[in-house]
Amino acid sequence: MSAGSPISLGWYADTVHAIPRTNRPLTKEEFWQANVIFNTYLEMNLVGVGEVMDLIRPPIRHLQMGPGRPFFVLCLGCHRIDWRNFIDPTTVSRVDPRVAMLGHCECMCCRGCVMLEDDVDGWRRCPKCLRPKSHSTDYPLWPFPDEHFSALTERTRKKVEG
Ligand SMILES: [Zn+2]
Ligand SMILES: [Zn+2]
Repeated sequence: MSAGSPISLGWYADTVHAIPRTNRPLTKEEFWQANVIFNTYLEMNLVGVGEVMDLIRPPIRHLQMGPGRPFFVLCLGCHRIDWRNFIDPTTVSRVDPRVAMLGHCECMCCRGCVMLEDDVDGWRRCPKCLRPKSHSTDYPLWPFPDEHFSALTERTRKKVEG
């Protein structure tokens, strides 16, 4: 089940949860050092994913795209994983801790941080803002920057066409 309203991927969305607050406006240079733009997320369906993932395409339940929205470059939980070295979650193990996970709270944290939270009825709370039911175990949100989503789309197209 989805939790509430869709997450905005529009540039002008309120990014209070995404960008750490400062007491003055960022300069352009600081902004680009501090942020990575994501414009797509996939709501996955990981129920019975075993075979599907290797065959044709990852089991996507819902796709949402927007003009792009800035997210802080580091995992908001541990501040160690850097989204500038984006790892496509469809190319690594489903427990790889470096993968970006978008919470329904709109915080972006690494899978390593999310997995440290207890699974309560299929949901984990956000490691950053602690909102319950932020990360669904079976229906996680996998966010992508534009170029990486384009690469995934291209790979999938080739597989489907054989
Ligand atoms: Zn983390
Ligand atoms: Zn959060």
